[in-house]
Amino acid sequence: HAVLVVDMTRFSRVNECVGSMAGDELLITFARRLFSSLRAGDFLARTGGDEFGLLLKLDKGLEDAIQAAERIRTALSAPFRLSELEIRVDCAMGCALLGGSEELAEEVLRNAQFALKRAKVDGGIRFYEPNQARAARRRFSIETELRRAIEGNELTLAFQPLVDLKTGAVSGFEALARWENGRRGAISPVEFIPVAEESGLIVPLGRWALEAAVETLASWDRKAGRTLPLSVSVNLSAIQIARDDVATRVSAALEAHGIGGDRLTLELTESAIVQDPRRATKVLQELKDLRARVAMDDFGTGYTSLAYLQRLPIDVLKIDQSFVAAMLGDGDSIAIVRAILSLADALGMDTTAEGIDSPELAKALTRLGCTHGQGFYFARPLPGDAALDYWLA
Ligand code: C2E
Ligand code: CA
Ligand code: CA
Repeated sequence: HAVLVVDMTRFSRVNECVGSMAGDELLITFARRLFSSLRAGDFLARTGGDEFGLLLKLDKGLEDAIQAAERIRTALSAPFRLSELEIRVDCAMGCALLGGSEELAEEVLRNAQFALKRAKVDGGIRFYEPNQARAARRRFSIETELRRAIEGNELTLAFQPLVDLKTGAVSGFEALARWENGRRGAISPVEFIPVAEESGLIVPLGRWALEAAVETLASWDRKAGRTLPLSVSVNLSAIQIARDDVATRVSAALEAHGIGGDRLTLELTESAIVQDPRRATKVLQELKDLRARVAMDDFGTGYTSLAYLQRLPIDVLKIDQSFVAAMLGDGDSIAIVRAILSLADALGMDTTAEGIDSPELAKALTRLGCTHGQGFYFARPLPGDAALDYWLA
């Protein structure tokens, strides 16, 4: 057997335009058509508002379910007539197979509904895949735990040196969020930052990172007994630009810790600009007014128009690791890096090459005129104290 759930696409929109009485009528016709596509041994039930569940008896396996889906689509293809309106509805379908007899019917239905959710994106049929469900469950519990981690101050920052390639001196550190979860161990930002962005948690997380980075810089000054010639770089997500008052937060953090704006760099990706150029322009200008520096992160992977690059107050282009990593073996990557470097030079910007993990790469980039470097070859991201020691050494 298989459970197939069928959901009318755009039903709420139809409902809105014809009124709920006519909507009910449409729903009944929809159910009738589904019923007419059943075969002996199949069952039909309403499992939600405009969602119907079919229990299909399979003779040949999966193929029967696909055929049933095709029958349903054909049955639904004729337009519905509601008073003078002619409405065409389509449907999305999710399907899950019943394995052993020990499985709960409810669970199989839930699995089919999970597949349906994905089918709704493109209106087709999707089959339940346990791996995808497991990944979705992990995402969900990471979101819950991350919320607690932010509130409970469980996150820390690691600092990776930014090196002046001409002199070899450390000019600053990039602050990178770290999360040591009691139960799961270390969770990579590559995993939790996207979850934070999707859930909106990036706003409190980003506020925390900014505040903690500036605080750490102030603590280094205090330990050294003087103002160090060092800056910190903090990552800003496109969502923070869109939803938070970034400049107010930056100004408050700088003021709270007595740090000059020119010792802070904000790294943002091309997506932060492309999504809402007008807003990004305003925020960047406000940051400039605070004397903070702006770096374009992962440059070369997004779709910034060169016009923005020229118009916006950007101080640094960070060349994405993927180009740097490919440089040693691949002429095209060298050409790309060279083009980015001459573009930055023409626009009066500094350049930071990310992901330098060998002396060969450091040498090659220095020769090409790249101004700064970052990567495992110099140092991995370090805890705050170790970062200060690294600088002092
Ligand atoms: P990113 O901004 O591009 O940061 C650089 C990443 O490259 C870091 O990964 C760093 O550990 C890694 N890396 C540095 N040198 C090397 C190298 O030589 N080889 C290799 N293979 N990797 C190197 P990490 O710490 O895992 O961070 C991943 C991403 O998560 C960051 O990419 C950034 O986009 C995001 N992220 C981290 N912390 C924050 C944060 O506080 N806020 C926001 N919005 N994003 C953050
Ligand atoms: Ca970055
Ligand atoms: Ca980067």
